[in-house]
Amino acid sequence: MPTSPSEPSDPYDLAVIGAGPAGLAAAVTAADLGLSCALLDAGPRPGGQYYRHPAPGLGAAHPERLHHGWSAFAALSRRLDAHTRAGRIRYLTDHQVWTAERGEVWTLHATLGPAADDRAVVRARAVLLATGAYERQLPFPGWTLPGVVTAGGAQAMLKAGLVLPGRRIVVAGSGPLLLAAASSLVSAGAEVPVVVEATSYLGYAKGLGTLAANPAKLVEGAQHGAKLLRYGVRLRRGSAVVEAHGTDRVTGVTVARLDRDWRPVPGTERRIACDAVAIGHGLLPQIELATELGAETRETPDGTVALRVDGGLRTSLPGLWAAGETCGVGGADLAIAEGELAARTIAGKPVPAALRARRDRRRAFAELMAAAHRPGPGWTDWLRADTDVCRCEEVPAGRIREAVEVLGAGDARTVKLLTRAGMGWCQGRMCGPAVACLAKDAVPRADSRPLACPVPLSQLARADLTD
Ligand SMILES: Cc1cc2nc3c(=O)[nH]c(=O)nc-3n(C[C@H](O)[C@H](O)[C@H](O)COP(=O)(O)OP(=O)(O)OC[C@H]3O[C@@H](n4cnc5c(N)ncnc54)[C@H](O)[C@@H]3O)c2cc1C
Repeated sequence: MPTSPSEPSDPYDLAVIGAGPAGLAAAVTAADLGLSCALLDAGPRPGGQYYRHPAPGLGAAHPERLHHGWSAFAALSRRLDAHTRAGRIRYLTDHQVWTAERGEVWTLHATLGPAADDRAVVRARAVLLATGAYERQLPFPGWTLPGVVTAGGAQAMLKAGLVLPGRRIVVAGSGPLLLAAASSLVSAGAEVPVVVEATSYLGYAKGLGTLAANPAKLVEGAQHGAKLLRYGVRLRRGSAVVEAHGTDRVTGVTVARLDRDWRPVPGTERRIACDAVAIGHGLLPQIELATELGAETRETPDGTVALRVDGGLRTSLPGLWAAGETCGVGGADLAIAEGELAARTIAGKPVPAALRARRDRRRAFAELMAAAHRPGPGWTDWLRADTDVCRCEEVPAGRIREAVEVLGAGDARTVKLLTRAGMGWCQGRMCGPAVACLAKDAVPRADSRPLACPVPLSQLARADLTD
């Protein structure tokens, strides 16, 4: 059952939005340091994207077996329980924040569902944005076929639903999530004939010092690699899935070698039979709540946009902090370190040197990883004129190219106005990066919307917004 709406008269010292690794670590650290804290999350249980739980009805006996680092989550969870029982943290499940209002005291508006009373207002002197990330999609012919899922989606199906997207699954795209996903899929009984990685991994060679400073990351990569070897999974580097085949469902893919710019090399195509594809091209920080208020952003080395923060994880807006993927995608360890660090600066406490060093090492690794997996501009050569780019509004690549080349659209927003690409249910979360590439947007732009999620009109009408 969702927690009931609340409008306490005294503001909290801190409201944390997101109960993933970053938000959890921040909330329990802040409570340890004596701050009163509200922890809001859109989901029913803590853990975020990384520590996903099987639905209770599935009766999973050992959910930890699907995770790396479960003990870190278990420790955070125990601290959350203790602080919640002692009244130092108010943990508000199923609360999706749709807008934040600035002021000396911040006001967060959250929806709990479609009924008119299912809403809450939380006031706090400081806010920490720990809303994580969502997946970047690069379309290709056949990507809308049933059986084609994202790499994170495959992980989510397995961790939350204990189901596989298919029996013979091609894992493809670029980034470390591919190895993690393939490793989980084979452990759960799927056949993975091949992992198709678009880069050569050579980008990591530019940061040998950073690699050496992060041995845990190397061990994690080696563990995934060893498991894939044991299960006979081939790794094909410098290649991409350029087409998925099938009518009612995917039955195979075409894989081609790529040149340095990710253009398919003619004559290198190979067909591989499968009944599912798990495809991932990295993650996009979810920062609309802050960008809508004008928070400054930075371009990350993989071409996405993250919040600009200082050494204490303060954003450019007084009273607003950020931690984890909202500062740039980097994984659960980094998110936990940043949550702790942000909580300490919010509480006005010094940051221990060891914590700062851990965070800086992990952040440096994240930047190296992002640079190594930045998509090349030639990926748009995979698209045919009839390939849907915006799947909500069914806008094909040909219409977007026409808007750019014939009608003169020079950015994603103009393309959207001319074609409806990005106007559908997902509000451009799926097609946004692809449309921006096709529109040749010079600078990646952060999404900015007055509402971070769909909100019933009845709740909007009763929201009592000050601006
Ligand atoms: C689909 C997916 C699958 C992934 N799978 C893996 C994996 O298998 N292995 C791996 O190493 N990494 C994986 N990652 C990356 C990993 O999850 C992150 O590195 C890590 O969880 C970052 O922690 P975080 O706290 O910054 O964000 P998250 O864990 O994403 O937590 C963010 C939290 O914020 C909440 N939230 C978001 N918006 C709102 C809002 N408006 N109001 C209220 N709550 C909100 C969400 O419900 C979520 O609980 C995955 C990421 C995604 C997106």
